[in-house]
Amino acid sequence: MTADYPTPSPTQLTGTLVQYYLVCPRKCWLSLHGMEQEAESDWVALGRLTHERTFARQSLREVDVDGFMKIDFTSEGVVHEIKHGQQMEHAHRLQVAFYLYHLRLRGVYTHGILHYPNQRRREVVELTPELEQELHEVMRQIEQLHQQERPPVVTEPMSICKHCAYQEFCWCEDEEEPE
Ligand code: SF4
Repeated sequence: MTADYPTPSPTQLTGTLVQYYLVCPRKCWLSLHGMEQEAESDWVALGRLTHERTFARQSLREVDVDGFMKIDFTSEGVVHEIKHGQQMEHAHRLQVAFYLYHLRLRGVYTHGILHYPNQRRREVVELTPELEQELHEVMRQIEQLHQQERPPVVTEPMSICKHCAYQEFCWCEDEEEPE
C-alpha cells in the first residue's frame, strides 16, 4: 500500500537530507517525517560549537538561498561548509554538490570547499558530471524513501549511531523496534 505522503518538492529536499540519506536512510526518513531530534543531541551541539568558533570573522555566514539551503558561509562566490568530523566525508561532498547544483540552476557557477577545522584539513568540491549524476540518483532515492509508510529498519547499531541524534529513539531498550 502506498502511503499518502506528498512527493517532496525541491524545496523539501535539502542538502542536510541528502547528507542524512547517505549516512543512514532511516535517519533521513525520520527527519523527512518531522521527527526532529537534533536540538537535544550533544553531538549536534558539538558540531554547532565547531561552526560558531571557526571562521567567525566571515561576514556572510548561514547564507539562506530561497528558504531551503543554508550555506555555512560564502566568500568570493565560493560555497563553504564546515564539518566537525570526517567520518562521513562522501555524504558531506554530496551535500555540497546539492548546493552547487541548485546554485547552478539559478545561474551561479561555482565550487565548494569542505572544511574540517578539527583535523586542519579542507577539500575542494567541484560539481563534476559524475558527482551530479550521483546526486540525481540520491535525490530520486530520497523521493522513493519519502513514500514509505515506515522508516527503514536497521537491525544492528552502527558505529555512526553513537553520534546520531536518534540514537535513543532507535536503540533504547524500552522502545519496541519498528517493523
Ligand atoms: S541511530 Fe543509527 S540507525 Fe538510528 S537513525 Fe541514527 S544512524 Fe540511523
